[in-house]
Amino acid sequence: YGASMEKIVSLAKRRGFVYPSSEIYGGLSATWDYGPLGVELKKNIQEIWWREMTRLQDNIVGLDAAIMMHPKTWEASGHVENFSDPLVDCKQCKTRFREDKLSAEVIASKKCPECGGELTEPRQFNLMFSTHLGPVADSGSIVYLRPETAQGIFVNFKNVVDTSRVQIPFGIAQIGKAFRNEITTKNFIFRTCEFEQMEMQFFVKPGTDDKWFEYWKEQRMNYYVNQLGVLPENLHFHQHGPDELAHYAKDAYDVEYHYPFGWEEQEGIHNRTDFDLGRHGEYCGKEINYLDPQTNERYIPYVIETSAGLTRSVLVCLMDAYHEETIGEDKQGKPDVRTVLHLHPNVAPIKAAVLPLVKKDGLADLAKDIQKELNLEFNTFYDQSGAIGRRYRRQDEVGTPFCITVDYDSKDNHDVTIRFRDSMEQIRVPREGLAARLKDEMKK
Ligand code: ATP
Repeated sequence: YGASMEKIVSLAKRRGFVYPSSEIYGGLSATWDYGPLGVELKKNIQEIWWREMTRLQDNIVGLDAAIMMHPKTWEASGHVENFSDPLVDCKQCKTRFREDKLSAEVIASKKCPECGGELTEPRQFNLMFSTHLGPVADSGSIVYLRPETAQGIFVNFKNVVDTSRVQIPFGIAQIGKAFRNEITTKNFIFRTCEFEQMEMQFFVKPGTDDKWFEYWKEQRMNYYVNQLGVLPENLHFHQHGPDELAHYAKDAYDVEYHYPFGWEEQEGIHNRTDFDLGRHGEYCGKEINYLDPQTNERYIPYVIETSAGLTRSVLVCLMDAYHEETIGEDKQGKPDVRTVLHLHPNVAPIKAAVLPLVKKDGLADLAKDIQKELNLEFNTFYDQSGAIGRRYRRQDEVGTPFCITVDYDSKDNHDVTIRFRDSMEQIRVPREGLAARLKDEMKK
């Protein structure tokens, strides 16, 4: 049997993946902190994405733009005008809802789904957080926290073209925080007010955009299966209908994940046309276009965007990997159930745990020595306390793919046991070359 949201939230807290933010003060709604294992998992996803989207591509470069941008950015992008959700309140229990997430019956009856009270008329609520830059809080000093990383890429398009020798088709990739004053923020880290995005804007010649759209759709779906290890049956595409398409989009597909609460977006692949570069050109009063060095043609490129949630990817990895498995009977004859995260070794926060069978007789020192060697290659964990079976289970629960057990024979024969998380099989291997051996196993 698999994951429910309650189980994931509980495991995340118990084992140090994700904590409620400011918990000692009772928490702050819809904000979360990433603990020792959560930060490793998030970093791994981030590094895989960066490798796949920049280093292994010969025509994509990186960028890290500021969170606060010139306020005109958001006028040009359409966010000041359009980035809002229809909000309704219950007059009785004061719960807030996004009208577009309510059922047709609720909207028609105007009755609160929580308490039956009367709902207000919808009003548009802009999702951007604003603050003031400088000491005077007047309307001239207003700035927004970016609600997406994409605009940092568009406003730097000319800088990148002029300074990095890229030629169309090429992409600019960025990972960073984004902020949205979301009305409903349930479902743990699925929808939060502060989150992280991994976005890539791919600039192409108009007319070739449909071809590149198909290309990136396929690439991005493959990434979830092959790089993050998400089960293919839990992923599908959802094409935006005419009423869902954003104001800038010609075509849009979402990669959706099958959550316990339904199919929901994980990543958007959008054909943004020449909307963004065209609008920024208009608003800054300077043409933003591209001169094709081969044909001397000048044009505003079209943009294919891939926009993924990093913090939401953490949730997908945890949900998809969680299993409770019955593996025989315990000493009382009851079913022996182990909780295990079948995380892909790419994303597992701890790649190997090093466990001396006992502390004494130099086994702890030997194990620590081995750990030191492995730490040069990847993140490991050392655990010397408790029965070995229980130590294995603790590692299963956080998704560690390999346990390395060091016993008396290790001292004499210079070998160790590798215990595999998924099959629970154990094999004996030489200590020499252990890191390389484990790296090979991770690729299987
Ligand atoms: P929704 O319709 O669910 O509000 P969206 O269509 O506005 O989402 P995009 O603007 O396409 O989302 O954002 C791209 C990606 O950023 C999403 O696929 C998601 O993974 C992530 N994302 C967006 N909003 C949030 C949020 N509030 N919390 C966490 N991740 C988010």
